[in-house]
Amino acid sequence: MQIFFPKEEAHEIRATILPEVAKKFIDLGIDVSIETGLGESVFISDELYAAAGAKISTDRNASFSSADVVCKLNKPNKDEIQFLKKDSIHISFLDPFNEKDLVSDLASAEISSISMELVPRITRAQKMDALSSQANLAGYSAVIESSRTLSKSFPMMMTAAGTISPARVFVVGVGVAGLQAIATAKRLGARVEAFDTRPVVEEQVKSLGAKFVKIDIGDTEETDQGYAKELTSEQIKMQQEGMKKVCSQSDVIITTAQVFGRPAPRIITQDMVEAMQPGSVIVDMAVSTGGNVEGSKNDEYVFHEGVTIIGMSNLPGEVAKDASQVFGSNLYNMIEEFWDKENKVINFDLEDEILSGCVITHKGNIVNESAK
Ligand code: NAD
Repeated sequence: MQIFFPKEEAHEIRATILPEVAKKFIDLGIDVSIETGLGESVFISDELYAAAGAKISTDRNASFSSADVVCKLNKPNKDEIQFLKKDSIHISFLDPFNEKDLVSDLASAEISSISMELVPRITRAQKMDALSSQANLAGYSAVIESSRTLSKSFPMMMTAAGTISPARVFVVGVGVAGLQAIATAKRLGARVEAFDTRPVVEEQVKSLGAKFVKIDIGDTEETDQGYAKELTSEQIKMQQEGMKKVCSQSDVIITTAQVFGRPAPRIITQDMVEAMQPGSVIVDMAVSTGGNVEGSKNDEYVFHEGVTIIGMSNLPGEVAKDASQVFGSNLYNMIEEFWDKENKVINFDLEDEILSGCVITHKGNIVNESAK
């Protein structure tokens, strides 16, 4: 069996796989080939992949055509689908709910496509959960980026010249990214507050030494996968009212609020931004799914009445080497889970809970219930 790791588009800093993980695939008895230059952006040469046992491909389309499995970070480019081998497997962040045409093209080309976003959140699949592995690093990067932009220090400092107060950081949405943002801001010495609509989060916030902001917004629910359910517009208004004071007192706000499969909720309004002190910073981590903050723009720093709103869509890419390492491991763990050692093939069992959750197209059909 042959796996091909093509180079990502030019804007992507992360690589799909690092040499150590390539070696683990090879140890399973799989032929690994990588496109030349795959690791350039994370300072890893072709020679290091070759030393791990990978073949270096200089003909991307030929490698697409011969591979049994193609792994990418980002969804396939529409034009490359024509080169993929019939019945081959394509694994990536496919974004299937927003990429209907791409999904039907993959089905027509008889590709078995797997969406990394849809790996179910069950214990057995945690090691394959790339949403979490990337969100964790994104939470870290969001805090580092905000600290670079803020014109004050995060920790309190008691000096002969006087006391510098700690930065006040407010984290809105405490899933994987939010928890890491809290932990990172605490490590840097900030005074941290946080809010989430899921009440179970309060204990987790407190265990990190941060304060949970209590806002009564009535009943809220979470799905069996742990995702928040969408709030009503009245609940959003109650949330905004409850957050106004904390927002106006914060030096940094980091928003991570997401509702799976839906646009991100708009939580921070323009008047809430304007109530912040000039020089304050907001990082909108939901910018690429619609944004939590009024006025945030994808991949831009927006300056509004002295407040900087950061809308970076690829925060894991700020720590690209680590992001590449954990993404590659997620891929390895997935393939290893279904690897049939004797016959050296992937046991593509659609009855399995993990595969039935994340396989989108198979044998010419869209097989995933949510994608359908
Ligand atoms: P996510 O990226 O979907 O959302 C981020 C956070 O935003 C969530 O905590 C959500 O509750 C919150 N949110 C939604 N609307 C909001 C609003 N209006 N205001 C404030 N916050 C709002 O979430 P995630 O990071 O993917 O994690 C969701 C949960 O799933 C977490 O508790 C996480 O620990 C859990 N999880 C479980 C597994 C597993 O394998 N069991 C794996 C990963 C995550």
